[in-house]
Amino acid sequence: MSSKKKIAVAKGDGIGPEIMDATLRILEAAGASIEPVFIDIGEQVYKKGHSAGIEPASWDILRDTKVFFKAPITTPQGGGYKSLNVTVRTTLGLFANVRPCISLYPYVDTKHPKLDVVIVRENEEDLYTGIEHKQTSDTVQCLKLISRPGSEKIIRYAFEYAKAYGRKKVTAMVKDNIMKQSDGLFHDVFKEIAKEYPDLEAASEIIDIGAAHLAERPQAYDVVVTLNLYGDIISDIVAQVAGSVGMAGSANIGEVVSMFEAIHGSAPDIAGKNIANPSGLINAAVMMLVHLGQPDIAAKIQNAWLLTIEEGIHTGDIYKAGVSRIKVGTKEFGEAVIGNLGHLPEKFKPISFGKAKAIHIPEYKRKALEKELVGVDVFLDWAPGTSEELAKKLSAVSGDLKLRMITNRGVKVYPNGAPETFLTDHWRCRFVNPETPDTESGDGFLKIQPEQIAKLLLRISEAGLDSIQTDNLYKFQGKRAFSLGGGE
Ligand code: NAD
Repeated sequence: MSSKKKIAVAKGDGIGPEIMDATLRILEAAGASIEPVFIDIGEQVYKKGHSAGIEPASWDILRDTKVFFKAPITTPQGGGYKSLNVTVRTTLGLFANVRPCISLYPYVDTKHPKLDVVIVRENEEDLYTGIEHKQTSDTVQCLKLISRPGSEKIIRYAFEYAKAYGRKKVTAMVKDNIMKQSDGLFHDVFKEIAKEYPDLEAASEIIDIGAAHLAERPQAYDVVVTLNLYGDIISDIVAQVAGSVGMAGSANIGEVVSMFEAIHGSAPDIAGKNIANPSGLINAAVMMLVHLGQPDIAAKIQNAWLLTIEEGIHTGDIYKAGVSRIKVGTKEFGEAVIGNLGHLPEKFKPISFGKAKAIHIPEYKRKALEKELVGVDVFLDWAPGTSEELAKKLSAVSGDLKLRMITNRGVKVYPNGAPETFLTDHWRCRFVNPETPDTESGDGFLKIQPEQIAKLLLRISEAGLDSIQTDNLYKFQGKRAFSLGGGE
């Protein structure tokens, strides 16, 4: 029996097969102790009718090998197809997406010679859970889910990663000035966990200006930890300003299974032309070898790759006259790396990797919080009319609850709406205990009973109104745990 480590390998779509073939040749030439087990994913599998882009039997191979080396795939847009990447990450619990980006100045043109940033992106939650509903003729909803265990896991991983790899600073990027509950939870957890790592500098920034700063002065950042969507966006920004989105690899780490891939997509615009840069996948392969306990082979490949870059042997995406020496295709770049195996870079510092640093995340201990029901938001599909008309209809059926406000796309339109506010057919109507003061904006909302909500919904339906969703309003540990309507 072969002593080589079996790994699942998928060649993907678009430029996937070209960059995967070039990378597998390098792995073989370097003496990596791996045995690829090929699986099909992506477009051809979607077209066979598997809406997740992966055949059912492939899951067993992923569970068996525990390591998945994956080229990018094309995700068909819309039409009931699920993103394979998201499905694999969430099904197999690959909670941390680690994306190191480094500039290779002066051999790869960049405005940021000192860029060396690791983006640690949350991988299982946020707007990527894919819970979306069309609720009215004009409006679609996408649910953003952020959990305490999810936030704790990724934030602790970022600090542990920084500690293990000699990094100095961890920066959280959030948007909790707007999303006070969801991004607010992530930020609170960050502040709590940061206290456990006094030797590391902890900072936080609002994502919009943070992304701008990352593009302008990335040298000010070290490890950045953030939510799924923001992490997706900023890792492309950082990879691109480092030189090319084609350069960075990423590791998707789970407790049991891990997946390694380039950060870029299938680049259909350049597929089949032998011009794609395989570096992102080569760097992913290096991360995979460290993970597999083959750090010497990983270093051998990384050093040969650095030497190839500093020799000015470049693919078209990073080729620059005056800086580069030869423009090569995907295959030729791979061959140049193979030719350099066993040699060290002369200008860049040679790389050596130690044993993979095991990062252990303690098991989450759920603390049940005291919860009190204090109201309900009922969402209605109602063709645009005035908010006063709707308020009249609702007040007539509010019974033992009180209509406190109505918003339209989150903007308060009753009471005291502004005539300029644009109205759609999506209304959120808030009902509370009649004793709750109209001026209450803190923790003073008063208790109601679940039956009051059930009865309210019945009356709303009998009045011919179309309720499309309800969200209960709670206090947790006596604190208001829902947002106020804009202008409430
Ligand atoms: P992309 O990353 O594929 O391409 C963006 C741009 O960068 C294109 O101009 C492309 O030519 C260039 N580029 C990307 N990789 C390159 C490389 N290795 N060498 C040279 N140039 C490179 O993003 P996109 O065009 O938005 O997406 C294309 C498809 O890929 C979509 O179907 C998308 O869903 C999918 N996608 C897949 C993954 C994945 O499988 N992990 C990730 C992102 C996007």
